[in-house]
Amino acid sequence: MRVGLAMLQGARHEHEEAVLSTAVSLNLDVEVIPLRKAEDLDSSIQGLILPGGESTTMRIASRYEGLLDSIYDWMETHPDRPVLGTCAGAILLAVPSKGRSPFIQAKISRNAWGRQRQSFEAQIDVSLQQVGVTSTAVPRKPDAYGHTPLAVGGINSPSGDGFFPGVFIRAPRFDAEGIKCEIIARFGDEIVGVRDGSKCAVTFHPELTTDRRFHAWLLEEISSLSTCD
Ligand code: GLN
Repeated sequence: MRVGLAMLQGARHEHEEAVLSTAVSLNLDVEVIPLRKAEDLDSSIQGLILPGGESTTMRIASRYEGLLDSIYDWMETHPDRPVLGTCAGAILLAVPSKGRSPFIQAKISRNAWGRQRQSFEAQIDVSLQQVGVTSTAVPRKPDAYGHTPLAVGGINSPSGDGFFPGVFIRAPRFDAEGIKCEIIARFGDEIVGVRDGSKCAVTFHPELTTDRRFHAWLLEEISSLSTCD
């Protein structure tokens, strides 16, 4: 399996680690393809991750190499192939460049929880229909700075439903009125994750936790498409 990872900004390496560790627990052979320029993207890419960052910076940074445009072209050419957009990635799915239709039917507002210091962690409710292994708690060692990853263990549920450690960093906010697709994650009354067919958009950062349900969803979607081929 070939999973593309947009190297636009944000926690790219954490996403890579998340995909690879999920692949091990699902017993799948997965290669993560870093996408830096338009030519890195072709029809061999079976699924894709749009990480968080600053969506405006990501749009500007990608102009030179045309990466974002080629990602959007790829999504239009392969509407069934799964894409996971986290935080700014969710914004890029909901509000693509001019002239393109949104890839998820959901209204979203940037930075609507407040400033950087209003970033927060919270347990959220996730319901994501999956087959096979749905979550893996991988204990991670402290990094070179002695920091251990957020939200280790204890919150996973083998059914794929239940609490998820939500990490919200200058997160965008969905507008409940403007959602015309499936709701897959809630924080109290707030909608924090949606799925529109093959596209999954969350306003938090699953890659910064050890709960792998969203990465498992991506790989399982790819897997089910390849069995249908
Ligand atoms: N504030 C960012 C934006 O508007 C999103 C933040 C994130 O990805 N953590 O694009």
